[in-house]
Amino acid sequence: MEHRQRTIIEPFRIKAIEPLGITTRAERTVALQKAHYNPFKLHAEDVLIDLLTDSGTGAMSAAQWAALMLGDESYAGSRSFYKLEAVVRELTGVTHVIPTHQGRAAEHILFSATLKPGMIVPANSHFDTTRANVEFMGAQAVDLLYDAAMDPRADLPFKGDIDLGKLEKILVEQGDRVPLVMVTITNNRGGGQPVSLGNLRAARQLCDRFGKPLFLDAARFAENSWLIKQREPGEGHRTAGEIARETFRLAAGFTLSAKKDGLVNIGGLLGVNDGALAEKCRTRLILTEGFPTYGGLAGRDLEALAQGLTEVLDEDYLEYRHASVRYVFDRLDAFGVPMMRPPGGHAVYIDGGAFAPHLPGWQYPGLALTNALYIEGGVRGVEVGTLMFGRPDPAGGHDEVAPLDLVRLTFPRRTYTQSHMDYLIEVVAEVWQKRDTLPGYRIVQQREVLRAFTAELEPIS
Ligand SMILES: *Cc1c(COP(=O)(O)O)cnc(C)c1O
Repeated sequence: MEHRQRTIIEPFRIKAIEPLGITTRAERTVALQKAHYNPFKLHAEDVLIDLLTDSGTGAMSAAQWAALMLGDESYAGSRSFYKLEAVVRELTGVTHVIPTHQGRAAEHILFSATLKPGMIVPANSHFDTTRANVEFMGAQAVDLLYDAAMDPRADLPFKGDIDLGKLEKILVEQGDRVPLVMVTITNNRGGGQPVSLGNLRAARQLCDRFGKPLFLDAARFAENSWLIKQREPGEGHRTAGEIARETFRLAAGFTLSAKKDGLVNIGGLLGVNDGALAEKCRTRLILTEGFPTYGGLAGRDLEALAQGLTEVLDEDYLEYRHASVRYVFDRLDAFGVPMMRPPGGHAVYIDGGAFAPHLPGWQYPGLALTNALYIEGGVRGVEVGTLMFGRPDPAGGHDEVAPLDLVRLTFPRRTYTQSHMDYLIEVVAEVWQKRDTLPGYRIVQQREVLRAFTAELEPIS
């Protein structure tokens, strides 16, 4: 493309705007103190660039906003459902399309129809809610990434691939306990690491050999398809849409959080080919979500999702999104900022432990960096480290620390512009200059479960 060598530009212009919370350093200092040094407790209004998550935070297009008005709110047999069903069938090839209010509802319904206590669900790696839903059924969620892919600094193209040797071993030794195999595209761990088509094809063959259905957790199917096009030998000549269509057809079904590549603020999908399984799922759906032609959604949500699923495979959009993430990564890399490599589709992960090596894990270096980014420039990232995954010592000593103290900067879709990215880079660079001075933190109050969301902390002086 002609413009490749020039400044990255958004392949859209702006029709509606939302003012940002411009604050002073003094105001941010007070806001963070009031939030007990936990960015989850900040009021979003006090955040300038919010990179907490890419889930449900994207901007809809003019066509999606227009589609909302077409929503058919009929309880049963809504026209909007049939429109969505047609779009999803064409994209995925799946027979039964079941709308849900979020991805986790699709997971819960699928697993309640397929799992029993003692069963095993192998995956490349389970997303948090997927793992929780597997375990809720009394089954075991097993992650099977290649060993090399677990090194955060190994610059490999497909760190999301499922380890076929490990998968075969489980199927041979404990196959009778495995009702299905899951592959998450892209793999969230490490910021959206893609799964190759070669790996998916081989996983499908293996599943066929053992008579197991292959399911996708397909929240970021478009980003995975784009990264296949960019990175996989022999796939560069195909469109992202062609790759996505083949990807879905390798599976017997999928769960999908529409808050990612569905380009909507709420929604989810469950797709299955097996008619008997679909019936079981619909029965459960009626109990927990709603009638099968709306799931947990309004008719207007179904319309916006149908439109979003067609827009997300636009290659100008996908190229711009990935170029933007890559741009942030490359600029920070040039400063020497330690990060997980390579950058994936939707996030950049800074290694907080290596960024602030003077802070031991039990002083939460990831949180120290997250808070410094907020004070410096109003940027909100999220700690994915000892505060989130570490364990308090029951005897009152230091926490058992997480292997890595990461800070995830996650990019909402079509929401921030290239100048916001430049600003973000400046903020990280300024904090990098004074990294020796970042204070550590101690927890003042915490809960037993999911403490990262609610913990109260204070800086160690
Ligand atoms: C977000 C996400 C989910 C859960 O979806 P929700 O819509 O948040 O319930 C499941 N899997 C992956 C890979 C996700 O990114």
